[in-house]
Amino acid sequence: MAFPLQDVTVPELKELCQAMWDWKLCGNCQQDIKERSCPPRRCSGVDNCPWGQRSERLGPFFDFYRGVTGSYVPDFFGEEDQALRGHRDLFDIIRLTRRCGFTVLRTLCMHQYFATRLGDVDSQTMVPESDQGRAFDLAARVLTMTNLDSADSQGFLNQTGGGDEEGIGFSPPAVRGSIACLQIALAEIFPSRIHPSLQAGDPQATVIKNGLTAEMLRRVAGIRIERTDNLRDHLRLDSTAGVVQVFHLTSVLREHLLATKPTGSDEDSSYETLPCLPRELALETLYTIQLIFPPGGNSQAMLRTLVSKQGFDPDSLRFGTALFELSRHERERALCFPVWGTRLMDLYDEIENPKPRGRLDVWLERRSKSRHIMLATAVGIFTAVILGLLSLCVSIFQTWIAWQEWKESAAGR
Ligand SMILES: [Zn+2]
Repeated sequence: MAFPLQDVTVPELKELCQAMWDWKLCGNCQQDIKERSCPPRRCSGVDNCPWGQRSERLGPFFDFYRGVTGSYVPDFFGEEDQALRGHRDLFDIIRLTRRCGFTVLRTLCMHQYFATRLGDVDSQTMVPESDQGRAFDLAARVLTMTNLDSADSQGFLNQTGGGDEEGIGFSPPAVRGSIACLQIALAEIFPSRIHPSLQAGDPQATVIKNGLTAEMLRRVAGIRIERTDNLRDHLRLDSTAGVVQVFHLTSVLREHLLATKPTGSDEDSSYETLPCLPRELALETLYTIQLIFPPGGNSQAMLRTLVSKQGFDPDSLRFGTALFELSRHERERALCFPVWGTRLMDLYDEIENPKPRGRLDVWLERRSKSRHIMLATAVGIFTAVILGLLSLCVSIFQTWIAWQEWKESAAGR
């Protein structure tokens, strides 16, 4: 089969949610996964089965999943030669990544996974390393909603192995190439910086946060909003085209936050959930979306248009994050925007000093070069001379009339 992940069934989507967020499914749904039922069973809805409650809301995420997995092509086509034989293999890798991929070298995870798959007997897998890497990248892409396979994530991809986990506390550039666990890769992609003008005590912060809306971006800066499902492109501004990208799959961010938040039934405070996307990052991203599209008013209306016309996740219209936060401290820290602060300030700068984007603006900008200013001055002087000559003619005429009148009155006397 050319594309082994081309089709995805409902039971597979149920298992995907289970792998991603540890969903505790009802009996029917679990049976569904076990038997790969076709057609799928109805969710019984008992025990607050999350599939019955929230799967509909995750429609845009399932579309994203179909999109990124459908195009996977293995290096070789043989049952044991391809890294991903079906969706289940990908779910296994997602589970493994959550269990240890955040802190353990990727090469070690890969080795462990493919050795176990062969059943310990022969740990020499026939799957080419490039294909193994692609499978792990795909799992990380789905899990973190971040495309790690791009030019500026070299540290994650071109890792050589041989490092150890001691380097996790180092600053990212120092460990580039030696440590390649997900935690480090994400820290490199989403570095955290303090922006003084976005901190809670700064009077400027309120002004900036109130002024940075979708409406202002469009009306003052002439910037268009486009959706992205790659978290690393969130709030990325293309200044020349006048386009800013906004990560729209908020339903996934909320699921990540729910999955990593201990529920009331987990009495034990030491209860540890497995990581998906770092909580701070998910929460801060939700806040940036609420900042740009504040409830009520034109910005919210723009978001509704983006949902209906451009396929934004309808979940982005939901406001409020209190249900997903752990503490007030967590909220306050996220509201200082340590990760997205730089891009937010760039956007605010565009509102303060808008670049010419409309046709008239560009025309004026092009004509305000010095050559054109000289020309405009010359035209101005020429006009002044003509007007001067005209007024001279008029005064000569007036003098002539006055002289005539004087002559006539002198002759009449
Ligand atoms: Zn169910």
